[in-house]
Amino acid sequence: MAGLKPAAAAYLEGLNPEQRRAVETTDGPVLVLAGAGTGKTRVLTTRIAHLIATAKARPFDILAVTFTNKAAREMKARIGALVGPAGEGMPWLGTFHAIGTKILRRHAELVGLKSDFTILGTDDQLRLMKQVIADQNIDEKRWPARALASAIDGWKNRGLGPEQVPPGEAGAFAFGKGGALYAAYQARLATLNAVDFGDLLLLCLKLWRENPDVLENYQQRFRYILVDEYQDTNVAQYLWLRLLAQGHRNVACVGDDDQSIYGWRGAEVDNILRFEHDFPGAAVIRLERNYRSTGHILAAASGLIAKNEGRLGKTLRTEEVPGERVTISGAWDSEEEARLLAESIESLQATKHPLAEIAVLVRISAQMREIEDRFVQLGLPYRVIGGPRFYERAEIRDALAYLRITANPADDLAFERIINTPKRGLGDATLQQLHGYARSERIPLLLAARKLVETDELKPRVRSTLRALVESFTRWARAIETMPHSEVAQTILEESGYTEMWQKDRSADAAGRLENLKEFVRSMEEFPDLAAFLEHVALVMDASEAEGADRVSLMTLHAAKGLEFDTVFLPGWEDGLFPNQRALDESGRAGLEEERRLAHVGLTRARKRAKLSFAVNRRIHGLWSSTIPSRFIDELPEASVDVIEAPAHFSAGASRFDRNPQPFGSSYGTPGWQRAQANTSAGGRNFGSAPGGRAAGRSAGGPRQIEGELIAKSTGSPSAFSGGMRVFHTKFGPGTVAGVDGNKLTVDFDKAGRKMVLDSFLQPG
Ligand code: ATP
Ligand code: MG
Repeated sequence: MAGLKPAAAAYLEGLNPEQRRAVETTDGPVLVLAGAGTGKTRVLTTRIAHLIATAKARPFDILAVTFTNKAAREMKARIGALVGPAGEGMPWLGTFHAIGTKILRRHAELVGLKSDFTILGTDDQLRLMKQVIADQNIDEKRWPARALASAIDGWKNRGLGPEQVPPGEAGAFAFGKGGALYAAYQARLATLNAVDFGDLLLLCLKLWRENPDVLENYQQRFRYILVDEYQDTNVAQYLWLRLLAQGHRNVACVGDDDQSIYGWRGAEVDNILRFEHDFPGAAVIRLERNYRSTGHILAAASGLIAKNEGRLGKTLRTEEVPGERVTISGAWDSEEEARLLAESIESLQATKHPLAEIAVLVRISAQMREIEDRFVQLGLPYRVIGGPRFYERAEIRDALAYLRITANPADDLAFERIINTPKRGLGDATLQQLHGYARSERIPLLLAARKLVETDELKPRVRSTLRALVESFTRWARAIETMPHSEVAQTILEESGYTEMWQKDRSADAAGRLENLKEFVRSMEEFPDLAAFLEHVALVMDASEAEGADRVSLMTLHAAKGLEFDTVFLPGWEDGLFPNQRALDESGRAGLEEERRLAHVGLTRARKRAKLSFAVNRRIHGLWSSTIPSRFIDELPEASVDVIEAPAHFSAGASRFDRNPQPFGSSYGTPGWQRAQANTSAGGRNFGSAPGGRAAGRSAGGPRQIEGELIAKSTGSPSAFSGGMRVFHTKFGPGTVAGVDGNKLTVDFDKAGRKMVLDSFLQPG
């Protein structure tokens, strides 16, 4: 092993003393509790390299848990780079689910399965749940399968099998039958030789509890255990780890309570606090130097997260330059926001900023549609991380298939896609019959169906279902002649049962899919007719993901965990969207704090530049609403942010102070255009007038009138300050007023330069 010594020195070099301690404290429990960008993941990777290089462990002795498969691949590559071929292999490096599956396949028979068991997708799971409910003669309308599924999921996340559910909880569903239903569901899974996602961990727990020899074998095998993103483990994962770690007790977990963003999926940040209790004598190591972000970004992120009450609290410092302030810009609506964002990327590109170092992080995936459309229009190469591109999403392709047939009854590919989606009992056998007939007659499938339902070729039930579908398409095709195409699309999604299919789905992503479908319907309004819309989509889809590595990354904030980019765009910082109303409604204060952690995760992805934006008008559930900037914006420390207005908003001086609101416009055609409300960002920065008075107004009459309304309400009482006055600001010192916009002033400070400030922060100087 002597030959490895020089390499050892090389990989340890550059670590700070605490990091080095976290790497070299190989034996015994270690908890690294540290903020974003402090090198936690780097510590884990180096630790694995160190274990291998010093021959403390062989790659297959190490269990390393990452949060995503992508992170697992990257970690493997980095270990390889650190210790060369010795680090190859790592069979036990992966996500909880991947490792759980591997273990279960080896011992399937001990938990009543065969090793080739199936892992059920969510729709199969739901169907099974329905059968179980029906078997017990329970009214599914009253006690929906979805509710049962989420209860069972919750129990599994907490490591509870059917016999362990507290009686009170088990009784809450269907007059005391919840527990029995859970047991029946598990029994059905077993007969099908199938498991659901929750079982991948739960059945490991059962395996180990019932077979101490198997547990001991794994406890011996895993000499070293490492866990990244520990703050997002749920109870089942925690129990799983704790059982395994009882062997050698060499368990190293790294995490950050401020980045816990999966509470809605059962993650328990308390696991961090319990670590020291469960592993007495654990070395707890804190890393305080952030290596990722420049000063202002770190200050903004730290200032924001300080507003959370439920946190351990920690210091973070950077030795980087202060760098650029976090910018905040307002846009008129989400379309303009997407346009400005893309323009901003283009100007960065012009300065040779690599696109691969730019990320756009959104709160919900439906936000991606306008941004992607813009990118495609401009030919900006991009990739969507953690999911497909908007128009490639399964639910969007399904919706498109319905529309394609409506526009073109000969579109057989589309017909095949949706004939049994949602499931309506028109399975493979029916499709084959249709195919046979269509081929022999040389006609498209839909026409074949139309003819077949007039014969006795089909079973009566199939025949009536298919007839209904065929008639629906006839009706929809007729509707497209008279009704607005987006309304027809809405009708199709409802009448076909497609929307309902997702409404009934209880999987975590169902709500997101419904939002995507709404966004899809809404996007159609931008086109004169269905044909134009379908042509646009075809073009977008054809702009196949650009080759090569230099692409902008687009993803949700949840998918951004652990990643870093030079420049990060954070659009959609509006109350309701972010913090997200659903999180607030469901979890109240805890929900708000989780949203704030999500915002913190977003900001801390940036190395050099973080650019926030919001739109003052957004279509929510198909209705235009005026929005107010996210409360998170008000919570950012003033000294680290720059409020930037889109050039169009503030270029022409005169129109900017237009205080003559026109009456609320009735000329604007869109139904549901809601009366713009006053911007009530009380006390904080008032952005209400940000998009107002754009010099180059839009062609449509409505928005401009709304702007007037917005300005009138947001500017409030006239400021006591006027141009040319000398003023004093507690943070920026003395300066001269350069412009007044209601209570918002542009001031040329003697030292700090030009800033936007609120008059309440100023004194006459
Ligand atoms: P997160 O909480 O976001 O997951 P993290 O704590 O896992 O962050 P890393 O991703 O490991 O942080 O590190 C952040 C960045 O800092 C990486 O680019 C990493 O290479 C760099 N870094 C970490 N430690 C050092 C060091 N000692 N010297 C130089 N760069 C470092
Ligand atoms: Mg990390």
